[in-house]
Amino acid sequence: MALIERFSVRGTIAGMHNDTIAAPDLSWQEGALCAQTGSDFFFPEPGSSVREAKRICGLCEMRSACLEYALNHDERFGVWGGLSEKERLSLRRTQH
Ligand code: SF4
Repeated sequence: MALIERFSVRGTIAGMHNDTIAAPDLSWQEGALCAQTGSDFFFPEPGSSVREAKRICGLCEMRSACLEYALNHDERFGVWGGLSEKERLSLRRTQH
């Protein structure tokens, strides 16, 4: 259940990829550390610190796959792969 909570839009189950046509490879989520910690760190209230989420991401073996997923699926909210929303936006801008 924690895995579903972490990877779903708040309040919705499996809301993460409702808008995709082909099912993405989500096998990396099996090893996601955040699935064990709950989603609160990763979707903090606006203005709250993301330090703890980043610390957990720094220990996560799935970090690369997670970040790649977030970039490919234009995840706008929360910390993914150790990067905040603003950091992912900056990264996307430098890639284009
Ligand atoms: S890198 Fe961070 S957000 Fe991504 S799966 Fe690991 S702990 Fe979760």
